[in-house]
Amino acid sequence: MKQRERVKDSKQPVEERIKNFNEVAAGYTEEQAVIEAERCLQCKKAPCVKGCPVEIDIPGFIKQVAEGKFQDALETIYKTNLLPAICGRVCPQETQCEMLCTLSKRGQPIAIGKLERFVADRGDQHLDCSIFTSKEISGERVAVVGSGPAGLTCASELAKCGVKVTVFEALHSPGGVLIYGIPEFRLPKGIVRKEIDAVKEVGVEINTDIIIGKTIAIDDLFDLGYKAIFIGSGAGLPSFIGIPGENFLMVYSANEFLTRVNLMKGYLFPEYDTPVTIGEKVAVIGGGNVAMDSARAALRLGAKEVVVLYRRTEKEMPARREEIENAMEEGIKFVFLVQPLEIIGDENGYMKGIKVIHNKLGEPDESGRRSPVPIEGSEEIIFMDSVIVAIGQNPSPLIPATYKNLKTGRKGNIIVDETTGETNIPGIFAGGDIATGASTVISAMGMGRRAAQSIMKYLVNQKKTAIKD
Ligand code: FAD
Ligand code: SF4
Repeated sequence: MKQRERVKDSKQPVEERIKNFNEVAAGYTEEQAVIEAERCLQCKKAPCVKGCPVEIDIPGFIKQVAEGKFQDALETIYKTNLLPAICGRVCPQETQCEMLCTLSKRGQPIAIGKLERFVADRGDQHLDCSIFTSKEISGERVAVVGSGPAGLTCASELAKCGVKVTVFEALHSPGGVLIYGIPEFRLPKGIVRKEIDAVKEVGVEINTDIIIGKTIAIDDLFDLGYKAIFIGSGAGLPSFIGIPGENFLMVYSANEFLTRVNLMKGYLFPEYDTPVTIGEKVAVIGGGNVAMDSARAALRLGAKEVVVLYRRTEKEMPARREEIENAMEEGIKFVFLVQPLEIIGDENGYMKGIKVIHNKLGEPDESGRRSPVPIEGSEEIIFMDSVIVAIGQNPSPLIPATYKNLKTGRKGNIIVDETTGETNIPGIFAGGDIATGASTVISAMGMGRRAAQSIMKYLVNQKKTAIKD
């Protein structure tokens, strides 16, 4: 008889994991994966696939897992997604494929993300390129700016069709937020590197330490022989609250804090020379994944008390449910319905506290969530050693600032046609957070994939025009 309950994987015990940066969730064993896969109803219309921006054949790969054909399952996923170990770990499946799973109406949806992770971890990530057939535009050259999920996906989709793709990355390691933002305990960097190796294996060349817009201008890329350009430069510009005192020492943007911890390996200090000073009492302002990652990283760096300050209630928090639960289990404190008014500092320029005001919930705003309304006279000071501001990121400004012809939106995002990724400049495409503002890994990948398809059409058309001329 089929098991109806969703199979749970194990986690590192709380008392151990708060002292290390090792991955928290263990993932499925072979036996657990097969039992979970056997629950899938193999629905004819597969509503789950509609929830996946890269359209993985979800019932197809799950059937293969149930039959123990794990490598076949990986190849099924690879047809549309070269980053399954990453997506299986960090995608918000609960609001995407799993939310639409038929079984979610009857109780617990299939653990699609955990199965995807299992297949990717278990399989041999050596790619058999012969599974890809389309070779129409073989040999054409395309430049991709940024090696986050959008850039990597666009690049691999093009390379699979024989296009010669060069990715230019400003940092010394490829991966974008996957490398510099999301901590090791949620997404081990060895896993990211392994999947980037698979991208290289389909023929993508990645050049690091090159800042497009500074080292090489956008127009120079065309002069260098690239026929089209995809911009996936992300949302790397941190937002600040705009209150007095944000310049005091020990006030971090989440971006700086997490980059120090992850990319600069601050979590391995003194082995790596990146001290991250946070003191004993750390406040984190925000309620998304970035806030959860910052709070949990601060705890693991040795903070005695970590408090998340969020202006609405737990229900409105945008972070993944699983990560909120993990943070709560680990002893992170949450203070809801508070809003910072001012960072208070001492005579030496260090922050020492945060003046907050308490809120109540009012009417829903444009996001559909009830908006916070300050309660007059409810101000108080919360004394803390440091604060990490994690209230959002904006599109990286460098390319729009140095290539003024590109049309941008109110927040500095590059304006694109959502289905094709086309910008207002022929031959220049864009996608991911630089177009949408801070979003998700899979939405960036979906845009990268759609842009690759229209870049291929563009290259074909250019070729036809050149032949006619
Ligand atoms: P990015 O990943 O930002 O990559 C852009 C790359 O472009 C970077 O490597 C950057 O260095 C490079 N670049 C920028 N400018 C230039 C230039 N001029 N020249 C060359 N290179 C350039 N999403 C989820 O789905 N689940 C999660 O759990 C989750 N957690 C997150 C946690 C944190 C801490 C953060 C910050 C984000 C999280 N996100 C999560 C969001 C997700 O990571 C992003 O939406 C996604 O990475 C966007 O992909 P991208 O390719 O558009 O940009
Ligand atoms: Fe399986 Fe759920 Fe997709 Fe149906 S909707 S095929 S049960 S994963």
